[in-house]
Amino acid sequence: MRAVVCRRAELEVADVPDLEPAPGQLLVDVVRCGICGSDLHSRRHADAIADVAEEVGYADLMRAEQSIVLGHEFSGVVIGRGTGAKLAEGTPVVSFPLLRRAGGIHPTGLSAQAPGGYAEQVLVEDALSLPVPNGLPTDVAALTEPLAVGLHAVRRGEVGKRQVAIVIGCGPVGLAVIGMLKASGVRTVVASDFSPGRRALAVTMGADVVVDPAVESPYAAAPGHGHLTTGPEVFELGVGTVEKLRRLPLVRWDQVWRVADKVGAATPSHPVVFECVGVPGMLEDIISSAPMYSRVVVVGVCMEPDRLRPSMAINKEIDLRFVLGYTPLEFRDALHLLAEGKVDAAPMITGTVGLEGVAAAFDALGDPEVHAKILIDPRSTATTPA
Ligand SMILES: [Zn+2]
Repeated sequence: MRAVVCRRAELEVADVPDLEPAPGQLLVDVVRCGICGSDLHSRRHADAIADVAEEVGYADLMRAEQSIVLGHEFSGVVIGRGTGAKLAEGTPVVSFPLLRRAGGIHPTGLSAQAPGGYAEQVLVEDALSLPVPNGLPTDVAALTEPLAVGLHAVRRGEVGKRQVAIVIGCGPVGLAVIGMLKASGVRTVVASDFSPGRRALAVTMGADVVVDPAVESPYAAAPGHGHLTTGPEVFELGVGTVEKLRRLPLVRWDQVWRVADKVGAATPSHPVVFECVGVPGMLEDIISSAPMYSRVVVVGVCMEPDRLRPSMAINKEIDLRFVLGYTPLEFRDALHLLAEGKVDAAPMITGTVGLEGVAAAFDALGDPEVHAKILIDPRSTATTPA
């Protein structure tokens, strides 16, 4: 079969060996496969990424010297089954991109052990595959994976419906987070990006307030939520609250405070900030600019060492959370939110190319004004994304 092979940062269309489904696996004809920001990273920085994975005990992440078929955001149709596989041939599916092979489990499209969806066919686990429901178009179904990333970030952020969510960076990851925040019923979503094109996409994904951070602070864009921004305000809140409670007749101030603590009413109002950029300096910038007590969910992947001031994070009691991927349940839920129309992700798709156009698509993704998510259609002959 034909596939795009990545080796030493070069992308080339090549004939590669046909795939055989092992017991419990399916052979899937790829209909669409998204190009992910992590594919762009992996093409150029594979060894650095693999070194970190090795430190946490996984030794088979792609290396620059290996020939790798990228692609973990695919939708397709079942065309072959290993013994024991349940899904029927002809079923349109999306699959959680992990594959059992050679005594281990490997991330599809990011390991030589599990070739990905930049190809005519891909192997998947039957148990991790879901029929595409409701006649959801296959191109939109291919967005299940990036939207699951957004859903996982939103769940880890534990955003209340009345809390303000602030999304920094409106590339595909930020757009997925915005879509999932709105699908989760969060009323006020602020989106921030320097690019007018990406701000326009943020609006189509449902952002309520959209700002250009060169002109306006995203942290001040949704006032009226009682966020504290200075140390003296925190002192005043603490001292003033005790003074007020002590004036109440019949009840002890500490008992009232304890009850408020139990129901979560004693924590000062704060936003949840989603870092969706992933370049050095972003964390420090958010920590020094965000309101007191902000929860910061780090979704953007910064591959370089970075500096931040713990003392500033301590002064504000910033709650920093890092997220990776999604659970099988979140993957399933993302598919169903798409299929039920709870999130409309179609505007994220800004172009489609054939295998021959993948290298050009990687270049095109460098311009945030034109492209967000480019899908590969292995049967298309398009050499530029359109
Ligand atoms: Zn991805």
